[in-house]
Amino acid sequence: MTIDLHQLALHSIDSAADELGMADWVRATLHQPERSLAVQVPYRADDGAIRVVPGYRVAHSMARGPAKGGTRFHMDVTATEVAGLATLMSVKTAVVDLPLGGGKGGITVDPKQLSETELESLTRSYTRAIAGSIGPDLDIPAPDVNTGQRHMDWMADEFARVTGRPQPGVVTGKSTAAGGSLGRDTATAAGCRTVVIASARRMELPADARVVIQGFGNAGAPLAAMLAADGFRVVGVSDSRGAIHDPRGLDIGAVAATKAAHGSVIHHDAELIAPEDLLALDCEILVPAALEGAIDAAEAERVRARLIAEAANGPVTDRADAILHDRQITVVPDVLASAGGVIVSCFEWQQNQREERWSARYVADRLEQRMRHSLDDLWAVAAARDLDLRTAAMVLGVGRIAAAIEERHGLDVARELAS
Ligand code: NAD
Repeated sequence: MTIDLHQLALHSIDSAADELGMADWVRATLHQPERSLAVQVPYRADDGAIRVVPGYRVAHSMARGPAKGGTRFHMDVTATEVAGLATLMSVKTAVVDLPLGGGKGGITVDPKQLSETELESLTRSYTRAIAGSIGPDLDIPAPDVNTGQRHMDWMADEFARVTGRPQPGVVTGKSTAAGGSLGRDTATAAGCRTVVIASARRMELPADARVVIQGFGNAGAPLAAMLAADGFRVVGVSDSRGAIHDPRGLDIGAVAATKAAHGSVIHHDAELIAPEDLLALDCEILVPAALEGAIDAAEAERVRARLIAEAANGPVTDRADAILHDRQITVVPDVLASAGGVIVSCFEWQQNQREERWSARYVADRLEQRMRHSLDDLWAVAAARDLDLRTAAMVLGVGRIAAAIEERHGLDVARELAS
């Protein structure tokens, strides 16, 4: 990653702090992770050798509840990247008003070079190394780039061995057999769907508005299917191999079947277009669901949609954001539009802690309700302070964390004075 994500996160916090007139000591608290751990992660390679790689776990804020955030296995993972991502997680959980703080973890490793047994050895070793800092009441990891259900199952199992008792609420994103929640797989798509429907209604877009989706993976593919079923016309989709277009609306079931059979959407029977032209297609709604930084200044000038819902994390660059704002294109930012996953992660943790199993319908209804309320909160802050939605989201999230910090420190001071 070329941009310093931590600096970027702090810059956004500062802008919100200025808008809120925040006290310096609260701002300083937000600038620094509450706790930060760097560990050695030794694991056994298949040739019998022991290898050691660096690992991290950062809890940026636990003011609103236990820290929550993913675990990334990637060669680009650094202490500062993890700190930046943890900071943004604090804002994300606060924007959707979960009783959680923000955290993130990772290992600097290329998992594609590892066998299944090496990956398991690595994941279990990492869990042992950070075991003293995580827990259902402390800091709760989840999947992120290059990690998924089986990694979380290994982490939950290793944590149970270390602590001597099963505590499934220590991680989320587990298989349902290991205590995972129904509806977790499609949670990000379902959350973004609610954002699209509610925002389209608010903006008085037609019921069969045209949608373009960049990225046809875990987030993009189920979202395309959901929106098509809702009556929207999904006129363009893409993946890493290329983009397709049909102004009448693509048959998303058939596109998904083609991708499953042949590896890409480009084999579907539709007009093949250049990937850069996808973002400039004539449509009302654009959903970037692939890459960070996908929409830069040049793309922003060409966007024809009236609404952008950021299913991906950080898909719009700062320069592009300013252009979209000038062009009066509404952007629902990632901290809300991609928050479905962390919301259902929270539901998983709550089910584990209460020893409950919620039905898929109950999970879906609660997710929809949470997204709708959060979106209403966001529009209200934007209107009251005359802000764009991205700035409003930072003000909303940072304001909630700051309130929790003030309350906590206030109590500390009161206790000190009483003693
Ligand atoms: P994924 O790997 O399942 O899918 C990514 C998709 O993007 C794939 O279809 C891939 O082919 C496509 N893609 C890659 N490069 C592309 C390019 N240059 N042009 C067009 N398409 C391209 O990943 P995902 O889980 O769907 O995540 C996508 C984004 O959503 C990421 O930014 C991620 O951080 C964010 N997100 C995902 C979740 C989740 O629960 N899956 C939650 C929050 C945020």
